[in-house]
Formats: sequence, C-alpha cells, structure tokens
Amino acid sequence: MRYSVISLGCHKNLVDSEYLCEQIITGGGILEQDPDNADIVVVNTCSFLTSAVEESIDSLLEFISRGKQVICAGCMISRYGRDLLDELPEVALFIGPGRYAELIDAITSGQLYLSPKFDSVVSRSFCTTGASAFVKVSEGCSNHCNYCLIPSIRGELTSKPIQTVIEECRVLADGGVREIILVAQDLGSYGADTADAESLPRLLEQVALIEGISWIRLMYVHPASLTEDLVKAMRDIDKICPYIDLPIQHCSETVLKAMGRRGGSRAVKRAIDLLNSTLEDIWIRTTVMVGHPGEDETAFAEIETLISQGHFAHLGVFCFSPEQGTRSYSMKNRPNKTRAQSRRNRIMALQQDISKKRLHKLIGEEVQVLVEGIHPETDFLFIGRTAFQAPDVDGVTIITEGTVERGRLHQANITDANDYDLIGTVL
Ligand code: SF4
Repeated sequence: MRYSVISLGCHKNLVDSEYLCEQIITGGGILEQDPDNADIVVVNTCSFLTSAVEESIDSLLEFISRGKQVICAGCMISRYGRDLLDELPEVALFIGPGRYAELIDAITSGQLYLSPKFDSVVSRSFCTTGASAFVKVSEGCSNHCNYCLIPSIRGELTSKPIQTVIEECRVLADGGVREIILVAQDLGSYGADTADAESLPRLLEQVALIEGISWIRLMYVHPASLTEDLVKAMRDIDKICPYIDLPIQHCSETVLKAMGRRGGSRAVKRAIDLLNSTLEDIWIRTTVMVGHPGEDETAFAEIETLISQGHFAHLGVFCFSPEQGTRSYSMKNRPNKTRAQSRRNRIMALQQDISKKRLHKLIGEEVQVLVEGIHPETDFLFIGRTAFQAPDVDGVTIITEGTVERGRLHQANITDANDYDLIGTVL
C-alpha cells in the first residue's frame, strides 16, 4: 500500500509524524510525498486551539472527499476521544498518541479506534535528510497553565532517558544532521519527573560530545524552569546556539496569575536578567498571549513596555483562544476579540522595528550560516540560517554569492538585511 503522512501543528508533532513514517516503512508500506499518489493518508492532527481543530477536520474531510482511505492520528483523539467515531464515520482508523507502534497491525486487523497512551515515550524514526532535526526529549507537560489543553491532551511530563536521546542524536549525526533542536513542551523541566531533576545540562554536555553535531538549539523553556546551571551550560558549551525560545506569555502579575503561569512575573524577570547577565549575545525568541481574562489596559501597558525594551529578538504574538475544558474558558473580564486583535497588532508593530534593528546591526559582520538549499523562488540564490535563526519560525539568510554546499556550515559576510531576513555572501 502507498501511504502519505500529513503533519499538522507543532514541531513536536512533526517528530511523531516521522515516527508514523517509520512504522509505515518497517511495516512494508511505501511512503509517498504527494498524497495524490497514496492509497492511505494519515493526518497527524493538532487540537491545541479551535483554529487547529478546524484545520485538522478540514484536512481529514478533504482527503475523504478525494477518495482516500483516511487515518486520523494525534491530538484530536486525545481531546475528543470516541466522540470522533460518530462525528467522522468516514475515517478508517483513529489512532491516539503513544499507539503508533500499532499502526500497521491496526490497519490490517481493521480496528477503528486506539485510545491515547500517555506513559509511552516513542523513539523517533530517521526519515529526515536535512541538516537540522528536531529531537523531542519528553512528552506531555506538568505545568497546567489555565488556558492550555496540553496536559490533558498529552498527559503529564514523561522524560525520555538521557541515553535514548543521545542515541537518537548519534544516529541523526551519522545521517548528516548538523543541528540538533531539542524540543519539549517545557524543555527546562526535562528530568523533573525522575530522580534526576537536573539532567538537562548533563544531557547538553553529552549531545555536545557527539561527532558531527555543530549546533544545539533549545526550544520552549518555561521561564520558571530556566536554571542557573542551564544558562551556565549555554555559556560554556560552544555548540549551544546563542538562542533560546523562552515563551513568557505575559509579564503582568495579574494576567500571569489568571493564566496560572508557574513563577508569575518574578520568574519572567529573573529569566530575562539571568540570560542577559550571563550570556554576552543572546537572541531570545518569545511568545506573548494578549486578550487573556484579566488583561486590562494597565496590564497591557506592562507587556507593551517590556517588549519596547528590546529584550526579544524574535516574537510571536497570539490572541487568547478560549478552549473548552480549560480553566481560562469560563473566566470573566476577557477583552473582546477586536480589542485583543488590536493589542496584538500594536505589539507586532513595536517588535517589527526591534527585530529589524537587531538584524541591521549585523551588516558588515561575519557569521556562520548553515546552508539549507536553493531559494524556493529562484535557482540563483541559496538560503541558510545563522545560529540565531531557528527553522520555520524566524527569518533566513539569503546567500547571493559564493560556492556553498547544502547541509554544511559556511562563513558568510552579511551585506544587507530586511525586516526578517539577512542577506550575505559566502566567503
Ligand atoms: S507550559 Fe506550555 S504546554 Fe505546559 S501547560 Fe503551560 S502552556 Fe501548556
């Protein structure tokens, strides 16, 4: 049979999709990039927000209407469970997270529904061939923020053993991967569910020893989980990119309290100070949520002021989305949608200038660039990323001159910059 896997949602889901691909290949199936060529389409869904649920359902229905046998995997099953059997009777199989090893057996035996299993931590498949790879170090999250469904969708924090992560990184390095991007719902909590709570810095030390790995990138560290040891490891281990994704969500104590964010505003301030005082040149990416219940004009002014101080090189701003099943859903004092949208626009406009200035400061500098391939719009240019540009979410570096090799690090001279991207020539 010919299969195609559609991955929706976050980078952590992408890792799961690769695991699904591995199951298909080892089970004797043929993997097709183009779903049009497949008999069976597996849609690995996201249900974190209502908009993600809508996208997942649209995708399932689209492939059903195109006459494909459709399998629904992922977070939709964790959120809606067996109700989906009635809602989407055309779907051939619903397979929850943690059950992907059973995919082929379930198809062969004609099963309809496999409920999620939260205590299993799957190993990743090795379908990727690029120079960068995401490595998921844990499943689930135990922070229980009031607006977030992740703990109920993906369960409590379950960390992979260090040796499993190292082995995964080693295989990826042997396959040509040069950049390991460690991801988790809260990377800083890695190991907190075991007797070895301080294991992230040790994990980093061991990943850095793997031959072939040049860059290690850290994504999604809750401010309250950012320890001094972790920041020291970032300072002392050369291979760790001067970059961190630190989702603060807000800085007003009132709002953070309503959000149920561990550590509140003190944790946010402490994390920013710790990074800036320990690391010479750190590029912080963050996420801010506007419009959560409790965000009045005073609270919004606080986050606007923090953003205007220029601590963040990259920023994503989202409007609060009330999700049924969360504590935030029924909270009062919620700014209306229009106000939330206008606050989002204000913060985005503020940040655009800050990001642009930060990039423009690099003009004339020499930086390392990991070359990813030919520019999607023209064969005459290459694109790559610097250590302070993460894949998919930040800008890229456009290479206009020089001889480059895909998947290799090159020294580049930055000649120009626009709002989000750098332009350079390889030396
Ligand atoms: S830390 Fe992130 S994943 Fe965990 S509950 Fe909070 S928002 Fe959700």
